Amino acid sequence: MHEFATAQQIVRTITRVGLQNGAKKITEVHLEIGDLTFLVPEQLKFSFDIASKGTIAEGANIRITHVNAKVFCPKCKYKGVLNLESSGDTLMMELSLSQCPKCGERDLEIIGGHELNIKNIRVET
Ligand SMILES: [Zn+2]
Repeated sequence: MHEFATAQQIVRTITRVGLQNGAKKITEVHLEIGDLTFLVPEQLKFSFDIASKGTIAEGANIRITHVNAKVFCPKCKYKGVLNLESSGDTLMMELSLSQCPKCGERDLEIIGGHELNIKNIRVET
């Protein structure tokens, strides 16, 4: 369950930043999550609730912006979004099978989708 480890990391980061800025409470966290992190938003929210218990981030509202996986074809310079629908093993498989829609090249470079960014937090001071 890698959502839990991720949630703990997020809580650690935002509580540190919050405290440094004199926050009494963190009310909202805005996250940017790439497709290729394989994080399930619902599970991440659930894990966050557990990981933030007893911290200033407890009860914070989580907003998630979804970032599509993007690929770049070194052969024809095609750049595009990789559509991944399922999760887990299936998704890994689709990813390795994916090819350039323009020239059919299979050796695509992944240029987006690994993001896990804390965009901003909203606090009460
Ligand atoms: Zn191509």
